Amino acid sequence: MNKGNKLYEGKAKIIYETKDKDLVIQHFKDDATAFNNLKKAKVEGKGVLNNRISEFLMLRLAEIGVPTHFVRRLNMREQLVREVEIIPVEVVIRNIAAGQFTQRFQVEEGTSLPRSIIEFYYKADELNDPMVSEEHITAFGWATPQDIDDMMALALRVNDYMTGLFTGIGLKLVDFKLEFGRLYEESGEVRVVLADEISPDSCRLWDIETNDKMDKDRFRHDLGSVEEAYQEVARRLGILPESGDGDIQAPEAVQ
Ligand code: 5GP
Repeated sequence: MNKGNKLYEGKAKIIYETKDKDLVIQHFKDDATAFNNLKKAKVEGKGVLNNRISEFLMLRLAEIGVPTHFVRRLNMREQLVREVEIIPVEVVIRNIAAGQFTQRFQVEEGTSLPRSIIEFYYKADELNDPMVSEEHITAFGWATPQDIDDMMALALRVNDYMTGLFTGIGLKLVDFKLEFGRLYEESGEVRVVLADEISPDSCRLWDIETNDKMDKDRFRHDLGSVEEAYQEVARRLGILPESGDGDIQAPEAVQ
């Protein structure tokens, strides 16, 4: 699949057009940013790992009936995805208190939440991605009430599935961020599908035994061994790039 013009460059990914107007190429960079771009660095190999991890998770989610934009991985850093209209709302699902939540509600990091909590943030760097309510989302026209229902239902299914998957490889799924897009089918039907990526850049993953952070918090808080942590997540999922091209293995179960 030949790469066309660059359509968009974000902090960690670049989107290129293809000859097919319904498909775009998602390229994963090694760039890491945190705190709305205040902290920046390159993490060697991160793009390759996130490409693999996100491919793996999107494929498993598609198998359980979650619609996604993912089509296929093209190479180490790139994947082919359906062109969607991104809904400018980040959906965060929290199972355990961490990050912004601990500060906002003065809850100790690591506290299990009484149930999974869904939050919405408006995707706007210039505003620092403010937390918003369903009222803001519908009043400003970012999404319809039906889109919100679809996003919440899908987010909860993703959470159920991924919580189990990660538990099986000795990781706690603390929280994560999802993005959704509107897919315009030729039939005229419009569907909300999972888009962007799911990777240690967008999830908090803690080792079940040690509580070691295995995600972007290693970069955010200068904990070191960022690439090694992402590699360990990929290793446990059975998808280290070294294991060969396209050979997705079953996740390694923890005894
Ligand atoms: P928090 O709101 O505590 O900063 O983040 C909650 C969860 O959502 C974390 O897993 C974090 O990685 C993810 N998240 C929140 N905002 C973003 C974002 O703008 N980009 C990425 N990659 N992840 C985010």
